[in-house]
Amino acid sequence: MSVQCGLVGLPNVGKSTIFNALSNAGAEADNYPFCTVDPNVGVVPVPDERLPQVKELAGSPETVPTTIEFVDIAGLVEGAAEGEGLGNQFLANIREVDAIIHVVRCFEDEGVAHVAGSVNPTRDVEVINTELLLKDLETVEKRIDKVGAAAKKGDQEAAEELSLYERLHDHLSEGHWARSFEVSEPNRSLVDELFLLTEKPVLYVANVDETALPDGNEYADQLRAIAREEGTQVVVISAELEAQMADLEPDERRLFLEDAGLRRSGLERLVHAAYDVLDLITFFTADEKGAYAWTVERGTRAPQAAGQVHSDFEEGFIKAETIHFSDLDEAGSEAAAREAGLIRTEGKDYVVEDGDVMEFRFNV
Ligand code: GDP
Repeated sequence: MSVQCGLVGLPNVGKSTIFNALSNAGAEADNYPFCTVDPNVGVVPVPDERLPQVKELAGSPETVPTTIEFVDIAGLVEGAAEGEGLGNQFLANIREVDAIIHVVRCFEDEGVAHVAGSVNPTRDVEVINTELLLKDLETVEKRIDKVGAAAKKGDQEAAEELSLYERLHDHLSEGHWARSFEVSEPNRSLVDELFLLTEKPVLYVANVDETALPDGNEYADQLRAIAREEGTQVVVISAELEAQMADLEPDERRLFLEDAGLRRSGLERLVHAAYDVLDLITFFTADEKGAYAWTVERGTRAPQAAGQVHSDFEEGFIKAETIHFSDLDEAGSEAAAREAGLIRTEGKDYVVEDGDVMEFRFNV
């Protein structure tokens, strides 16, 4: 499962700095399929402290982390929905991502121009969110015109759809995101098929100066207030510090973090927060080739999880030998876990848990 997060925000807030730091950190990691097909897309390994241990416990020769993709989406400025700046180009990019990472400038620096002349997270967030809402309103209006015409001709189904879309239009017009629009299950697909931008989960990044780490500053607090209202999270990071760190060797990076009084890098926290807002979990497999981490949505059943590893595994799924990482870790080895009867046999209805170590049995 390839998950994509789009970095959006006003110009000069630090998007590219964060994107480059993420890409560099990724390029240095072992065994991960770095690809540069598109300069705006960076594939980043998901840091997971459990994976090296799975490798040791299973006696695999190497680790292969799961990855997450970040896309640097430029061109969102005030008026973008109407074609200002790079205009509508950003739109196609945002439509394709699974989550929006909204980078907000929370640092002061006279050397770095601010498009609106001053640092003001509340205003900046509103500018971007308004563009997204305007675009969605346009999408809904087009649909209203279409079903409205059919409804006028007496099409009963179209009339019902029209009333739903009008309700959605009101909701967006009031400044609420599509995400918070309440719709009954059979009508859910009518909303989903519009692929609205404000339907996507959002994560805010407060880009602060190094001196404001780890808790942020008054600007970050403004952002926290917005996030609280929207039921989402804020990750406080210093893009410049992350950029400096991305150039270091892993050992040096650890020392650098310790010196700054941080346990985890901002990029690590960002990746984990993205996992959270997307409700993703990690499971592991291990064999004589390697110990692998995989990404699935919470609630995924064993056969679909097996399908991540190989499409044949899903079709031919028979069962999954499963043990939770913590049990395996406690047992000390796979053999010891087996002897202690800790390895369970799970069937096709089993819902995978974060940290499961699984071995799939399948028919070919
Ligand atoms: P983008 O337009 O959002 O992609 O912004 P960039 O990443 O290109 O950053 C714009 C400018 O702000 C660059 O000169 C960065 O070096 C600078 N910058 C980014 N993050 C920080 C930060 O945390 N503190 C300071 N002082 N400058 C930053």
